[in-house]
Amino acid sequence: MKIVMLGAPGAGKGTQAKKIAESYGVPHISTGDIFRANIKNDTELGRKAKTYMDKGELVPDELVVELIMDRFKEPDCEGGYVLDGYPRTIPQAEALDSALEEAGEKLDYAINVDVPDEVIINRMSGRRACLKCGATYHIQYNPPAVENTCDACSEELSLRDDDREETVKNRLEIYHEQTEPLEKYYSEHGVLYNVDGTKDMDEVFESIRTIVGN
Ligand code: ADP
Ligand code: ADP
Ligand code: ZN
Repeated sequence: MKIVMLGAPGAGKGTQAKKIAESYGVPHISTGDIFRANIKNDTELGRKAKTYMDKGELVPDELVVELIMDRFKEPDCEGGYVLDGYPRTIPQAEALDSALEEAGEKLDYAINVDVPDEVIINRMSGRRACLKCGATYHIQYNPPAVENTCDACSEELSLRDDDREETVKNRLEIYHEQTEPLEKYYSEHGVLYNVDGTKDMDEVFESIRTIVGN
């Protein structure tokens, strides 16, 4: 099963992608997580990506496409995957389609988690991330058991640099300009499904289950 998650930054793509991965036994592939891990390990890719990420801009397509094509070669992708944060531009979607076509495969669902901008600002300011294991929390809607501490690995949680309000506004603008057109793209390809992302996390997941089935 191959799924793409669409939606604004902070809409809940990662939260839902993790639930999908667990329930359906496919890997959760987050390009943002891969970049953050590279930044943490101070790799060349990480250093390149960081200059864009800190400004709330998109990392250039060629870097992202190369990264995701490499990731698809890992054996855990054989039974499919849930992509979170890729594609973010039409050229990225086209690159994915060509790769799938070449392999005689196809995308099953593009799930768009729909959340208005006003709600996004609040979601991002309360988001706390574990930079060690990638877990995500919200101080109000999904707090960790012990304040500011990752449930999974006990690492201290951080507010991502790019989740500060000024950067979030920039990211939202770029989202509307470059990523939102993917809704039309996938709708024309007959695989777009919308879910109301303003509901609580479990309800959103129920809507996704209704689409994907058991
Ligand atoms: P969010 O879901 O909150 O927007 P992500 O973790 O998906 O955050 O992405 C964080 C940042 O990483 C983005 O703002 C962008 O700079 C970069 N990034 C991640 N995925 C992509 C992609 N597919 N194309 C370009 N840039 C990306
Ligand atoms: P994305 O991957 O789209 O950037 P996340 O899954 O990281 O978004 O969610 C953004 C923030 O909002 C996180 O702090 C997360 O815990 C919280 N969140 C996610 N889904 C919901 C929801 N349905 N209701 C309230 N808060 C949510
Ligand atoms: Zn952790």
